[in-house]
Amino acid sequence: MAASIRDIRVILTAPAGINLIVVKVETSEPELYGLGCATYCYREETVKNLVENYLKPLLVGRDPADVEDLWHLMNHNAYWRNGPITGNAISGVDMALWDIKGKAANMPLYELLGGKSRPAVAVYRHADGKTLEDVAENVQKFLDQNIRHVRIQWGGYGGKVDSFNKPAGAPDGVYYNPEQYTRDTLKLFGYIREKLGYGFELLHDVHERLAPIEAVKLAKELEPFRLFFLEDLLSPEQGEWFRMIRAQCATPIANGELYNNPKEWDYLISNRLIDFIRVHISQIGGITPARKLAILCEAFGVRTAWHGPGDVSPIGHAANIHLDLHHHNFGIQEWSGFKPEAMEVFPGCPELKDGFVYANSNPGLGIDIDEKTAAKFPCKTDITRWTQTRISDGTAWTP
Ligand code: MG
Repeated sequence: MAASIRDIRVILTAPAGINLIVVKVETSEPELYGLGCATYCYREETVKNLVENYLKPLLVGRDPADVEDLWHLMNHNAYWRNGPITGNAISGVDMALWDIKGKAANMPLYELLGGKSRPAVAVYRHADGKTLEDVAENVQKFLDQNIRHVRIQWGGYGGKVDSFNKPAGAPDGVYYNPEQYTRDTLKLFGYIREKLGYGFELLHDVHERLAPIEAVKLAKELEPFRLFFLEDLLSPEQGEWFRMIRAQCATPIANGELYNNPKEWDYLISNRLIDFIRVHISQIGGITPARKLAILCEAFGVRTAWHGPGDVSPIGHAANIHLDLHHHNFGIQEWSGFKPEAMEVFPGCPELKDGFVYANSNPGLGIDIDEKTAAKFPCKTDITRWTQTRISDGTAWTP
């Protein structure tokens, strides 16, 4: 008799100080369970509630093998769809179902998907610094570790802020100055290329902090520095501006860590307005939609660069790596590394060795959770501060 879904639980843990949300799907077979990432770190209790009080009653008793059918069932069950809370909740279950399928087949996920296109995954790392010298030093550290792709930022997203004149009564917040940021970014690229040369790849994340026409100008002015890609240059709402950027320069464009809805990306791909899709896989609903998105991209010459920050659980990172290993149109993987505490909670993490990340060959996603250790690192529900961004005159702005 086929296994059935017996229980669905959410495990909240913060081993690296960032809230992580993990979904565990248990089956009627005693040892057969799956794990998935549902990490929306700023709304952890809401996602947990959706999974345990709405998805669990919907799914208990059903066959975990029917991943495609269950994904559509979850996506349509609340009638309205798309959005980070729903997407992450569905992803937690979806990844766990793929994990179960891999375990039942005794195959790692990359085998189940059709095998490897490469033995390991090239990654990019993040080099920041308060001064230009600091950034150069941090880039060199990665080059010394054989990392060939480095994202450079001078003073964090939106740049460093020298003092500027704010109006009286300007609210508290995280202030930045788009004009200074643009000037500094050009200076940064000039400095790094002059000091360290062109023998490696540079990336940069605008974090959608510029007005669209300023973004157009920046993409043009950065062209001589031969970027591997320019990340999140425009917000999901302003994607039409990519047409203007495309018409004026060949700086490669990577966009999409905020995308929720297929309508935010399908026209960018089918019109070849971006070069890399970098959605947050749990945000869009897990492995099932990500796999289809990668295949859509392949038809149009667009490569993948899945979002891989600290607020993805190691299970989510493992899902990224399995997709990267399989899909031919893989481009690059963002890699933030794991703290020892996270590796203790999640045995079987993918490993970075000499510039490349390797998945293990265990069945499914190949990664587990030690629930006792996870419980030692409780999540915190705080008001999020870093997203309270404002520009120099006090206007609230996208983070
Ligand atoms: Mg980014």
